[in-house]
Amino acid sequence: MNKKNLADILSENKIKSTKQRRVILSVISELKYPDTAEHIYLLAKKEDDSISLSTVYRALEIFTEKGIVNKNEFSLSDKKMYEINTKVHKHYLTCNSCKKILTVEGCPLEEYEKKLSLQTGFEITEHHLNLSGYCPKCRLENS
Ligand SMILES: [Zn+2]
Ligand SMILES: [Zn+2]
Repeated sequence: MNKKNLADILSENKIKSTKQRRVILSVISELKYPDTAEHIYLLAKKEDDSISLSTVYRALEIFTEKGIVNKNEFSLSDKKMYEINTKVHKHYLTCNSCKKILTVEGCPLEEYEKKLSLQTGFEITEHHLNLSGYCPKCRLENS
């Protein structure tokens, strides 16, 4: 996402476009996997030294309310994780040890949903599937 897009996203959602909010949104849009408010803060602070943790919390709250950002509360972790809401259906793979989350695009359940819908007469509107285990790094460290 370029800077212009970020400003557009803010104005489309009637969020006051401040430099700090654009920096925070840009950091979130560049995350490779969902991350914590604290880590987003550290990354944003590198870009703009005037950003405080409470600015990040407040921005995340607004972005989540407006649906620009997804907040995932995974049972495995006490931490709330954030990611940009790409509105693409996906699943998550969480490491039990380091709590890193990998986003998996593509869905193996489409056929299953159709079959289940035929069998039960349900109109299935959504599903959630979170997988967990140990990432390659943690597997190495624990072996
Ligand atoms: Zn791990
Ligand atoms: Zn799915």
